[in-house]
Amino acid sequence: KAQAAVKIAKRSGKVEIYRNGVLKEAQRRFSIESRLRTALSQGELTLAYQPLIHLQTGEITGFEALARWNDPDLGHVSPVEFIAVAEESGLITPLGRWAAYEAAQALSRWDGKFGQPVPVGVNVNLSPIQMARDDVASMFEEALRYSGISGNRLTAELTESAIIVDPDKARKLLVALKDLQMPIAMDDFGTGYSNLASLHSLPIDILKIDRSFVSGMLEDKDKQAIVRTILSLADSLNLHVTAEGVETQELAHALQSMGCGNGQGFYFARPMPENDAFDYWRARWNFETV
Ligand code: C2E
Ligand code: MG
Ligand code: MG
Ligand code: MG
Repeated sequence: KAQAAVKIAKRSGKVEIYRNGVLKEAQRRFSIESRLRTALSQGELTLAYQPLIHLQTGEITGFEALARWNDPDLGHVSPVEFIAVAEESGLITPLGRWAAYEAAQALSRWDGKFGQPVPVGVNVNLSPIQMARDDVASMFEEALRYSGISGNRLTAELTESAIIVDPDKARKLLVALKDLQMPIAMDDFGTGYSNLASLHSLPIDILKIDRSFVSGMLEDKDKQAIVRTILSLADSLNLHVTAEGVETQELAHALQSMGCGNGQGFYFARPMPENDAFDYWRARWNFETV
């Protein structure tokens, strides 16, 4: 009898812990949503810029714009967490619009500081939910027009899932982005349900090899085989490649000797505030190479 009581107590204790866990999670999600709504309306989000490096020449070919949020109550919240909340709550539409405008505006501010167009572009991330809900092509057209930036300097990064959800809609969007001269990159490539035929038939310019294959590639033959396969696929389809998660010099060298075009990762630089990114570019910009 006593034993049975202990069992029940243990079990209900677990239920209690579980309930608390679920409750805490729901509370956090709720406070992120409400704080994010405020942050968006008050312009409290920023973009950080991480350089994209040409592995042969070391040249900076562009930057990826990554959303950053430091909330007075919640502290620093990872984009992995707040983008997911934004997708669930519909806030991804204003957030995505803000990111596109802000990235185009940053380019125009860099041009202003430099006195002429800076020969780099910026990559903007698109969420599949945002693509389904919003008119992303008009959004970019307006952001470009508002900032006076040419479309070839703003790259759209989308994931494989965005194409799976609604292939016809995705095709129309990509064609519209190409009409704006925008390059298109397939982000986190290799992690989704890639339809190789769609890679060939859609106007995609760049494959970004997911970090999960790149960062452990030197210790894991299978990962390295996947990277090689993606490189040869890109070569056959005439696509540019960027390897994500380049964390060491050894990795940068290995990727370069494997024929990978561009790299991105902590070995080169972490994502930086707008002004630091400009300084980083200007310090490395070489008159001879232009
Ligand atoms: P992503 O688009 O794949 O971005 C690359 C992520 O890898 C960034 O994380 C970057 O900081 C991180 N990273 C870069 N180099 C390295 C490295 O060498 N090692 C490691 N461990 N990590 C590296 P972050 O900034 O936390 O962003 C996470 C994800 O959040 C992004 O993944 C993207 O999916 C999403 N995200 C960020 N900003 C936006 C945005 O404005 N809109 C949308 N829709 N999604 C965004
Ligand atoms: Mg990305
Ligand atoms: Mg990525
Ligand atoms: Mg990623």
